[in-house]
Amino acid sequence: MPLISLVVPCYNEEESLPAFFEEARRAMASMEAEWPDLRFEVVLVDDGSSDGTLGVMRAVAAGDVAGAEVRWVSFSRNFGKEAALLAGLREARGDYVATMDADLQDPPALLPEMYRILQEGDCDNVATRRVDRVGEPVVRSACARMFYKLINRISSADIVDGARDYRLMRRRMVDGILSLGEYNRFSKGIYGWVGFKTHWLPFENVERVAGETKWSFWGLLRYSLEGIVAFSTAPLSVASLSGIVLCLVSLVFALVIVVRTLLFGDPVAGWPSLACIVLFVGGLQLFCLGIMGQYLAATYLEAKGRPLYLVRERSDDDARGDDGV
Ligand code: UDP
Ligand code: MG
Repeated sequence: MPLISLVVPCYNEEESLPAFFEEARRAMASMEAEWPDLRFEVVLVDDGSSDGTLGVMRAVAAGDVAGAEVRWVSFSRNFGKEAALLAGLREARGDYVATMDADLQDPPALLPEMYRILQEGDCDNVATRRVDRVGEPVVRSACARMFYKLINRISSADIVDGARDYRLMRRRMVDGILSLGEYNRFSKGIYGWVGFKTHWLPFENVERVAGETKWSFWGLLRYSLEGIVAFSTAPLSVASLSGIVLCLVSLVFALVIVVRTLLFGDPVAGWPSLACIVLFVGGLQLFCLGIMGQYLAATYLEAKGRPLYLVRERSDDDARGDDGV
């Protein structure tokens, strides 16, 4: 009997979770009608929410969700979506694992379709891609597009524009993802890096059902820079490349100056251009040093080997009757 796990990271999703369960229940019921031997479990990860998310999770886990077992883990603080996803994947026991947001931007109604594709085709996971970015600020969309163009040029991992973290994967792919023990986790890159056969399912962007997005513009910018550092070493060659170019330029300059001095003598001029050149080269050096700093910081975090998250409580504690101490 195949088991399907739904992994849902939640950060302050008190308002969206009831709606999510409504939809998930419906999707699971329709799948059970079509494939009667399917079983389900829902793995909820509370990423250190400050609202009543954990309470909602507890209530749902105690009740009955279309016969699915509901388990949850709750972090000691907010560790970010990547950590929550990882915790969910580690907890999931299913032969198939779906990762999805709690805000219904990843419609559970697509699950039957995704499972059908996995059954009929020869692929290891069905991934979703939104075909538009309706409801998103224009500047953010433009920046996102630029980011995907750039990272695909400088990274060997195939990172698809508009791809969501909403996927249904076979166990072998999940194990592949879990085998990557890095601290700086950039899911979109990790999915691309592990490979496996992917079927892309396009769908139209949906706005979140309740609550607010956790991403600010600067948060997204920082996230994308981390993604570049995690999946490409191309920026490191900026230093050597610009060094070579500047050497060539200075050679040409030297030649020009020698020839000019021989032909016209040596009037003292050109200190403004000299100042510009000094400033330019100094700036370039700091820029390159900054890039190296980024990689050094990433290496530093990896070297410390800190856990990506700490669990404060989990549903198994409830079942055992202790308080997770
Ligand atoms: N999320 C999380 N930890 C965080 C931020 C977000 O677990 O620190 C979860 C959030 O609860 C939601 C999903 O990640 O289920 C996507 O978040 P959001 O909707 O804010 O992102 P967006 O859809 O705007 O990209
Ligand atoms: Mg969302």
